[in-house]
Amino acid sequence: MPIIKTTDKVDINQRRIINGADADVIQLYPMRHLFAWEAYNTGNSNHWLPTEISMQRDIEQWKSTTFLTEDERTALKTVLGFFTTADSIAANNVVLAMYRHITSPECRMYLLRQAYEEAIHTHAYQYIVESLGLDEGEIFNMYREVDSIYNKDVFILNFNEGIFNSEFKTGTLENDQKFLENMVVFSLILEGIFFYSSFAVMFGFQRQNKMIGVAEQIQYIMRDESQHLNFGINIINGIKEEQPGLWTPAFQQHAVDLVRQAVDLEAKFAAEVFPKGIFGMNADGFRKYIEYVADRRLGRVGLPAQYNTPNPFPWMSEAVDLNKEKNFFETRVTEYKVGGTLDW
Ligand code: FE
Repeated sequence: MPIIKTTDKVDINQRRIINGADADVIQLYPMRHLFAWEAYNTGNSNHWLPTEISMQRDIEQWKSTTFLTEDERTALKTVLGFFTTADSIAANNVVLAMYRHITSPECRMYLLRQAYEEAIHTHAYQYIVESLGLDEGEIFNMYREVDSIYNKDVFILNFNEGIFNSEFKTGTLENDQKFLENMVVFSLILEGIFFYSSFAVMFGFQRQNKMIGVAEQIQYIMRDESQHLNFGINIINGIKEEQPGLWTPAFQQHAVDLVRQAVDLEAKFAAEVFPKGIFGMNADGFRKYIEYVADRRLGRVGLPAQYNTPNPFPWMSEAVDLNKEKNFFETRVTEYKVGGTLDW
């Protein structure tokens, strides 16, 4: 679009998360979607890099033939197998779907930060695989070999057909709902549900004082992912507010159905990957935990709880709770703010 020469200033009331005026896209001010600017700043203060975390003890523990059980080794590898490709899928969606259609510059600022964080996560898995001397071919190809990972990824990727098409444009009821569907699938489901049994397994390791370097990497990733999820939820709720006509009863039912399908896929993943259970978590516990998580995600966008299952892993809420988590991370976060100063 050519730039129209004018002294008329951008009207804040015209700004939209999607379907905003073309000229607005490159003017950060006036900011309307303040949640995005806050998320951008939080992301910056939470900055971390995988190589800052020592993997020395993990390397010794992994090399030892007696320290970990065979089930624990399989669980760690399979969790990594899911993670390695999941963040690449998320990154592609941020850059090729969300960034293209979101017209709020402050939201785009956050998406740039988020895209970088997805790269850091993929870097973390690469770093873990390399440090432990795992077979890259085995771990990175798992999404095409292990049914329960493959099925989750196919479910997610199906929703990119259409929206990745260069002809796709928002601005009609059908396409705007398609965009919202993409947000439900990527934020609520991929970032909000599909990571969570794997997070629980990693915290299981941490609680046993095993593989704590890997667990710490995953804890940083989980902190970033909670921000991604929050942002996604704000985008969904923001679009609902700006275009209430999109949130029809039929669309709401569709979103609930997708979440229910995702819960089944995730429960299947947990049951197949950890068939004998791990660290006291069994298939039944995982399913309950996933149901509990799913109800919380639905509640955040104003959809009804489906399961009303109490949290079977209460220690996970502490690990996930960002406020409590802050103490855990405080040193490093502060260090980063100071360490970021350049000395010329
Ligand atoms: Fe993410």
